Amino acid sequence: MKNMLSVVLPAYNEGLMIGKTCRVLREVLEGAGIPYELVLVNDGSSDNTWEEILKAGHKDPAVLGVRFSRNFGKEAAVFAGMAQASGDVVAVMDCDLQHPPETLIEMYALWKQGYEVIEGVKKSRGRESFLHKESAGFFYGIMSKVTGINMQNASDFKMMDRQVVDNILAMPERNMFFRATSSWVGFRTTSVEFEVREREAGESKWSTWSLVKYAFTNIVAFTTLPLQFVTVAGGICFLGSLLLIIYSLVQYFSGHAVEGYTTTLLVLLLIGSAIMLSLGIIGYYIAKIYEEVKRRPRYIVSRIMRGGEDVSETAR
Ligand code: UDP
Ligand code: MG
Repeated sequence: MKNMLSVVLPAYNEGLMIGKTCRVLREVLEGAGIPYELVLVNDGSSDNTWEEILKAGHKDPAVLGVRFSRNFGKEAAVFAGMAQASGDVVAVMDCDLQHPPETLIEMYALWKQGYEVIEGVKKSRGRESFLHKESAGFFYGIMSKVTGINMQNASDFKMMDRQVVDNILAMPERNMFFRATSSWVGFRTTSVEFEVREREAGESKWSTWSLVKYAFTNIVAFTTLPLQFVTVAGGICFLGSLLLIIYSLVQYFSGHAVEGYTTTLLVLLLIGSAIMLSLGIIGYYIAKIYEEVKRRPRYIVSRIMRGGEDVSETAR
């Protein structure tokens, strides 16, 4: 089909949403006369998500289902969906309808005008706790600074031309930060604002701890800033000790005895903890390098389904 839109939907324990999401998307896209396919990736759900995807496939031949052998995380699911998508343009959105399907029409129109990356930007952050909002603001502030990409209110809701998708798929790294990668690749880019909706059913998969891990993993995946931080911290410690030495010498030669082992202990503690922190940061990078050089696949697909039929054998 010419100008076909593939919508990639990562799904983890979304059994309550699949049916509705597919129905709404069909209504919206058919209503707008956009040829489409829906690529639903079941990210190792422990509920009835896969059964719901099969059901949706029976109802609508435009539904393609990909099943992971276990939970590999949203980023991997998005990647797998993009790899299976065959459209000329590919959209990625959450399958809990928090990303408004109507925005797809607007994005599609921009793609027709010649834009190759259309970023969804959150108008507001929806209903989130104060702490969550502030820490997200802090994280994206850092990320914007170091990547040079404006990431404030960035989201995983976007539409990309086939050429962009192929370029992202060709990137070899395992730890990918999708939200920033789509800007990193370049191309003619524009953005569309959207209002984050309330989740209708099911629950958010993000705990505070998983968000902290997400933030740290992505900073490491995208920049070497923490390593520079280690160098700067080392430099500051060195300068500090130099000053301390000069001070002690002056004291000594002016006849004052340098006293107190408290200072010695404090300095030792300070330097000790700075070294441990630095080693931790360096260790984290080494761990990531280790993961990358193992060349393990990003994900493992156990089944592929189109139109309710199992096509695992014929598909890639
Ligand atoms: N998701 C996924 N794998 C995971 C966690 C989440 O595929 O390990 C999917 C989830 O099904 C949803 C999207 O990622 O379609 C966003 O997740 P969620 O709605 O929980 O995040 P929030 O909207 O609360 O940020
Ligand atoms: Mg959500």
